[in-house]
Amino acid sequence: MPHDTPLIATIVAGLGLAFVFGALANRFRIPPLVGYLVAGVLVGPNTPGFVADAGLANELAEIGVILLMFGVGLHFSLKDLLSVRAIAVPGAIVQIGFATALGAGLAWMLGWSMGAGLVFGLALSVASTVVLLRALQERRMIETERGRIAVGWLIVEDLAMVLALVLLPALAGVLGGQEQAHASGLLSLPASYGIWGVVGITLAKVAAFVVVMLVVGRRVIPWILHYVAHTGSRELFRLAVLAIALGVAFGAAKLFGVSLALGAFFAGMIMSESELSHRAAEESLPLRDAFSVLFFVSVGMLFDPFSLISNGWPILATLAIIVIGKSLAAFAIVVAFGYPIATALIISASLAQIGEFSFILAELGVGLKLLPEQGRDLILAGAILSIVLNPLMFLAIDWMKPWLERRAARTAPPVEAKPVGPATEPGQVASVAATTKKEDGPPPKTALTGHAILIGYGRVGGLVGSALKDAALPFLVIEDADKTLAKLKADSVEAVAGNAANAEVFAAANPEGASRLILAIPNAFEAGQIVLRARAANPGINVIARAHSDAEVEHLKGLGADTVIMGEREIARGIVEEVLGSKPELRRETAEPSVA
Ligand code: AMP
Repeated sequence: MPHDTPLIATIVAGLGLAFVFGALANRFRIPPLVGYLVAGVLVGPNTPGFVADAGLANELAEIGVILLMFGVGLHFSLKDLLSVRAIAVPGAIVQIGFATALGAGLAWMLGWSMGAGLVFGLALSVASTVVLLRALQERRMIETERGRIAVGWLIVEDLAMVLALVLLPALAGVLGGQEQAHASGLLSLPASYGIWGVVGITLAKVAAFVVVMLVVGRRVIPWILHYVAHTGSRELFRLAVLAIALGVAFGAAKLFGVSLALGAFFAGMIMSESELSHRAAEESLPLRDAFSVLFFVSVGMLFDPFSLISNGWPILATLAIIVIGKSLAAFAIVVAFGYPIATALIISASLAQIGEFSFILAELGVGLKLLPEQGRDLILAGAILSIVLNPLMFLAIDWMKPWLERRAARTAPPVEAKPVGPATEPGQVASVAATTKKEDGPPPKTALTGHAILIGYGRVGGLVGSALKDAALPFLVIEDADKTLAKLKADSVEAVAGNAANAEVFAAANPEGASRLILAIPNAFEAGQIVLRARAANPGINVIARAHSDAEVEHLKGLGADTVIMGEREIARGIVEEVLGSKPELRRETAEPSVA
């Protein structure tokens, strides 16, 4: 090499190997993130061969965290955040307390100091943003009530950790470590302020950041977006979105001592109020995905596979605290607040892992001579194993849910079905057709037979639906966007809420008894899955699907769709009809692959 290029080497090795191992994992039906972690172990210092720069990899991973939290903010409004505070705040606090106590117990058994136990326990109590968001995104749950609770819970944990990171250096002396002003910039506070002084100043800074965002950000950010959108340049718009997301996150961390993730979340939340937020989300997506992969690679790099042998039982105990202890605490508190079992299970599973914040705490603890090196190794091993196990946790809850629900039904009188009110109201079991909330267990099955099932009620499905209604044909809609569901309810059209590719949701539409399936969703892969499901339930059902390319037409026909309408072709037909004034004969057949 002509000169040293560690950043390029790290990005190339990270993304390249992550791709290879992600694809391999996918081939063996393992979640790709396991592949990313393996790629990380391979480029890490603990295995022979090429070693990437861990510091750089960490910073790249931070960008992934920023973009992820920014994306969450874009889908989150202040109202959503406040609507889950009743459960998220006590939930997170109780869970942190419980996990910290367990961690301190293990530390005590290992003969560590009290301070070590505290740092260790705190590190085990905070879940990874990236892992949680990935899991929720994969299941399309970010915008459901369960997703909101999980994200709100995570934000409370994040705030608690911001506090812990500031307080630990100040308290290190008291806890038996080495007193030092660790943090840099405005974050470093002289210990002479006393504990409460430090807490007060930290909270004041967080509050100042929030106020600045609400007062200044709320005006400036939408204005910038609108201005750039009017220039008509896609590139500039994309740049504006990235500059705002990264800029606010960085500023929040440097000026206000708020975590990067929290800063990015606020930037997204402010942007979500602009009608351009949709485009902003789209523009940041590809980078977000690439950088969140680097996150997993950088975690893998920290891992020493040989520590598994030398630290056998302490690692198992650590893992048990993360996966079992934390889950039980979260489950108990969510159920105690009167939420359905399904919600409690999802929250437990999504938080049953640790990640980036735990590493930061562990590093700080070791630096302050509070935590022995062994503690950091345990935290790392616990993180890796819990991240790998996390998808299995979700499988496990799918498997446990019916059993737990049956038990709960036997021991407690059934909760009466009430119409859905504000999302804050706990203890609610949502009910019937159009008002079914997707987060409250399987939706009830429709009474319709001989009906049409219309999937998606957007630009296409909406028009199809009103035509069916005018023709007085019986039909119901499966739709997963809350806004559209509200519209369906207003139009008093029967609807099942949720992703139609989900077995329970689809079954609620009674496919066995239906005569027709109309797929009015733009995603042909999802539509394909639904076609397969429908054919399995009812071989005679007539399937009409929507596509946007010749390849999609073939894909859907191959899976058993009877008729596939290609959107672009119909647009062309409309245009030609307008020009020629007659019903046009379009030459290229849709099913033929386009040969230029
Ligand atoms: P449009 O492209 O405007 O016709 O909108 C498509 C509609 O389908 C939107 O309202 C989406 O919320 C909805 N949709 C997309 N995928 C699914 C799915 N898998 N299950 C249920 N609804 C969906």
